[in-house]
Amino acid sequence: MQIISDRQSLTHQIDKWKKQGHAIGFVPTMGALHEGHLSLVKLAQDKTDKCVVSIFVNPTQFAPHEDFDSYPRDVEGDAKKLSELGVDVIYTPSKDEIYAEGMGTEIKAGEAALGLETGFRPHFFGGVVNVVSRLFGHVQPDIAVFGEKDFQQMQVIREMVETYDMPVEIIGGKIIRDKDGLALSSRNAYLSEKELLVAKQLNKIIAEANVEDANQALLDAGFDKVDYVEKRWGRILAAAWIGKTRLIDNIAV
Ligand code: AMP
Repeated sequence: MQIISDRQSLTHQIDKWKKQGHAIGFVPTMGALHEGHLSLVKLAQDKTDKCVVSIFVNPTQFAPHEDFDSYPRDVEGDAKKLSELGVDVIYTPSKDEIYAEGMGTEIKAGEAALGLETGFRPHFFGGVVNVVSRLFGHVQPDIAVFGEKDFQQMQVIREMVETYDMPVEIIGGKIIRDKDGLALSSRNAYLSEKELLVAKQLNKIIAEANVEDANQALLDAGFDKVDYVEKRWGRILAAAWIGKTRLIDNIAV
């Protein structure tokens, strides 16, 4: 497994693989990898013969008051997990490598970005399409895998690929949960033991309560604030806060 940080070396490797006729699978991440991320890697590996995983904590999808600085980072631990899976390349670009041509967005998030997350994190999907389109340009994947955990994000990416006619197939990976149904998330690391007990109610409440009742049910379960519980795309999607930690989840209905 190679760890590559500069675009030129990555392009060199990708060109070589393409000449040899290999298909390239890509999993973009922000690191602090857990079984959720690793399941996406396995999906990519099932479908292609070369797998690239990027680790890049993207500054443009965090607002100034959000957790960019404290976001968990563990490249060494991540590399160990990815190497055990037989990943071919970890791409760890610097901010300059990604934003060499400026921070501006040439492409915009489409209709899928309206509402839900955007109501509370208006900067978010602009940052996401900005970075994912650039990463696609660097990695030139045949397929890219995104988790249903971030369901709206996956829809925004699908719309981007269609709108801008990007030559990549988007594959969705199922949400990986712990034994209590809590969706795995790098941000779960922020939770105290007591908060974790509250967090574990999120999936149960959105699965069992009506959308109209879920808000109050979450507050009753110990969540401090509910950003939304809404039905869209045949899913119930929710975002709620426990202390300083914001959790999202969704479930098929
Ligand atoms: P992140 O590192 O949080 O940006 O996530 C990178 C990718 O992993 C995204 O496509 C997420 O949707 C996906 N992901 C995160 N958590 C999970 C999970 N519990 N199950 C499946 N996919 C996940």
